[in-house]
Amino acid sequence: MVTNKSTGSCSSNVNKCIECTVKQCKFHCDKENYCSLDKIVIGTHEANPTVPDCTDCTSFVLKG
Ligand code: SF4
Repeated sequence: MVTNKSTGSCSSNVNKCIECTVKQCKFHCDKENYCSLDKIVIGTHEANPTVPDCTDCTSFVLKG
């Protein structure tokens, strides 16, 4: 199995520590709801976040 840790790849690097349901992201593992990156960065688009909807995965990249 080839693992590309720098860019992530759905088929080769399922990260069971990062569960994710955003299927539109290029790092999402299509058959399983996990991310393929080794780590992600979470941010917020709000000045004062109060609920989960206020947070974002800033590592998201639209599947091409
Ligand atoms: S980068 Fe973020 S949005 Fe994309 S699959 Fe990983 S956790 Fe989900």
